[in-house]
Amino acid sequence: MADENCLFCKIIAGKIPGDFVHQDERCVVIRDINPQAPGHVLVIPREHLESLDDASQKDEGLLGHLLRVAARVANDLGHGESGYRTVINTGAGAGQSVFHLHVHVLAGRPLGWPPG
Ligand code: AMP
Ligand code: ZN
Repeated sequence: MADENCLFCKIIAGKIPGDFVHQDERCVVIRDINPQAPGHVLVIPREHLESLDDASQKDEGLLGHLLRVAARVANDLGHGESGYRTVINTGAGAGQSVFHLHVHVLAGRPLGWPPG
């Protein structure tokens, strides 16, 4: 169920523009508006889930799909060989700022570890 106050629900519904690089029946992928690496996209389920914490057993297939799409898009964008990082921030303390579950895919520069 879409949340009318949710930024990503609005982008998925076409009410706010997004730079889409992939769309399927379960998720969309858009370029991050404030990229933290040369390649930075967001894999976003069409269904509104606030965070990973909101996912339940019925969402296991969806979560697997999001990760498979992340890998496919990273490869399609040319980052398969050099590598890429997938990140899910869960909760404000971990850096989540948009409360609609999404997977960051970061690539195109050396990525330090541990992350900040
Ligand atoms: P997080 O902080 O993990 O919740 O990630 C939210 C991400 O959404 C941030 O990296 C933002 O730069 C990104 N973002 C915010 N608004 C937009 C937008 N209109 N289009 C694309 N990405 C956005
Ligand atoms: Zn939403």
